[in-house]
Amino acid sequence: MNQTTHNIGFVSLGCPKATVDSEHILTQLRAEGYNIVPSYEGADLVVVNTCGFIDAAVKESLDAIGEALNENGKVIVTGCLGAKGDIVEQTHPDVLAVTGPHATDEVMQAIHRHLPAQHDPFIDLVPPQGIRLTPKHYAYLKISEGCNHRCTFCIIPSLRGDLVSRPVNEVLTEAERLASAGVKELLVVSQDTSAYGVDVKYKTEFYNGMPVKTRMTELCQALSQFGIWIRLHYVYPYPHVNEIIPLMAEGKILSYLDIPFQHASPKILKAMKRPASSENTLQRIRQWREVCPDITIRSTFIAGFPGETEDDFERLLDFLDEAQLDRVGCFAYSDVDGAKANELEGAVPEEVKQERVTRFMEKQAGISAEKLRQNIGKTHDVIIDDIVADEVGTQLIARTTSDAPDIDGLAYIDVPDKNDYSVGDITQVTITDTDEYDMHGKISNT
Ligand code: SF4
Repeated sequence: MNQTTHNIGFVSLGCPKATVDSEHILTQLRAEGYNIVPSYEGADLVVVNTCGFIDAAVKESLDAIGEALNENGKVIVTGCLGAKGDIVEQTHPDVLAVTGPHATDEVMQAIHRHLPAQHDPFIDLVPPQGIRLTPKHYAYLKISEGCNHRCTFCIIPSLRGDLVSRPVNEVLTEAERLASAGVKELLVVSQDTSAYGVDVKYKTEFYNGMPVKTRMTELCQALSQFGIWIRLHYVYPYPHVNEIIPLMAEGKILSYLDIPFQHASPKILKAMKRPASSENTLQRIRQWREVCPDITIRSTFIAGFPGETEDDFERLLDFLDEAQLDRVGCFAYSDVDGAKANELEGAVPEEVKQERVTRFMEKQAGISAEKLRQNIGKTHDVIIDDIVADEVGTQLIARTTSDAPDIDGLAYIDVPDKNDYSVGDITQVTITDTDEYDMHGKISNT
């Protein structure tokens, strides 16, 4: 047996439903390599699953908790009595944590806090943070699956169904594990990040004993406690996006919004079944910048959508001028098997689509270049993605908080010695030069 296995004592009281809860917790404990022991003395910690149905059951549960505290001292309480106000804490203030019934995840979180699961590379099939395809210093954090919208160019809802949000405590537990494993940047992803929790009516879950709503703002608040970069992707422009801008201004999450606007012509947005109008969008962008002047707004657009006239396209170019977005991508519309947009009239000829994409990118390149140029002389935190050393010298390849991996620009920094830096380090850089998409800089404290 693994020498470092922790021993858990378990007391199960109550009805068959409580027994099922106990079985779930015990199964999870074994799956994570904890050992279940039959005595208080041999246990590193005791879980008491309680009943609170009638007075006699309450007394029996409180007595059982008292006994476990006397005999062992480290006690986590779960079950129906835990949901009855603060009777447990008042009677036994020394318990480590209290949850309600059906709370396997919360019980496991409490156990992890007091007795972290030991990773044994010879027994465990996966490392504690799971298997990841990204470099060690950043990770994607998926918060939901599916989508409730029906954008006509998209087949995701037919492939993956309507929105299903992951419980917020599960998301936070994963984030905590990733942060403990050395991840410095979390990229929050979904099909529609701002819709997080709509499907579960923003249900309140418990994480580390604290109530947290399954909702974007509350999730961002909770993620900020891990002290690592939190970057939001695929945020749909709902009004409540306004709530997270102050969190950005306070530095709790990165002041970066990846928000796919797709178009600016009301007629095309309607044909796409995107509800947002460009006037509202421009006003929102202005408000966001008032609250958080450093915000970086990234977006993607589609040129050549069926029915797009030269006039519609010109509106899109005007929008770019007004919105002054920081990072932008543009794709030529193309049919996707099964998408409603395929049936729309007014298909745009291929060469016109390509010509519009080129005009779009030329317009935006000028805006992006000027926005990047404004960084010259400014100091930014950067995260190091790679270190390249050859006979010419050593260069750090890094990203500022305004740049997401793979889709945005890079910062190149020449340094004298590669041994002073590691991939994943966050350091301060003064920008010395810029081009259309990338920046060059020097370490600001050398
Ligand atoms: S484009 Fe995005 S918001 Fe629209 S249906 Fe597809 S996944 Fe949902």
